[in-house]
Formats: sequence, structure tokens, C-alpha cells
Amino acid sequence: MASRLLLRACGISVMARNRVLARTGRRAMASGGGIPTDEEQAAGLERRVLQALKKGKDPYSIFKPKEYAGTKEDPHIVPGISDKRLVGCLCEEDNTAIVWFWLHEGNPQRCPSCGSYYKLIHHELPH
Ligand SMILES: [Zn+2]
Repeated sequence: MASRLLLRACGISVMARNRVLARTGRRAMASGGGIPTDEEQAAGLERRVLQALKKGKDPYSIFKPKEYAGTKEDPHIVPGISDKRLVGCLCEEDNTAIVWFWLHEGNPQRCPSCGSYYKLIHHELPH
């Protein structure tokens, strides 16, 4: 009895009560099928992105861009919301300067420095 009073005076009984509440909360989730996955608890924009990814889409360009050879048959694909886009080509891996040029919709264009092919593909922005 004296120890309970001492614990209460130190605020430990409050902590113990919180711990019990936390434990019962965890048990309730476990009985309902375990800890919810990211997909189950996602909301808002994150939920829309996860749903789009399930359909095989990447509306916000989350993933690393696919590698292209840069040849005429396999040009670098550049998504754009208008009919032209400014493209920076790092012609060689260790280059410190970027070659900038306008890429227009239509046939693939070549980088003026290294000759890699780029093709602009129209891309709708998600809302
Ligand atoms: Zn280049």
C-alpha cells in the first residue's frame, strides 16, 4: 500500500496505465488481421500513387527512369506536358558540362554534341 502511494507520487502509475492502453491497442489490431500494411493505411496523395502503381502506372515519376540505349531504334524517352522541352545531356559519364538543347515533339532528335537520340512523349500530369 505504501509502495503504491510512493509510485503514484512519482507518477509511475500513470506510465503503467499508458502501457496497458498501448498493449490493448496492439492486441485489438492483431485480432483484426495484424499490423496494417502501407496500402491499407495510406491516405490522400500517397493512396492515389499506390493505386496507380498497382495499375502499372508511375504518375509522379517516383521510380528511376528506365535506361535507354540512346540509339535511333531505342531513343531516350523524355516525358513532356507541352510540345517541346529543354533537355540536358551529360554526354559522357564524367563530364562536368551539360549540353542543353530544345527537344520538340515528333521524330527523335540527336544531342548536338554526342549524337544520342531523344524522343519527346506527351505525358499527362495527374491531379
Ligand atoms: Zn549528349
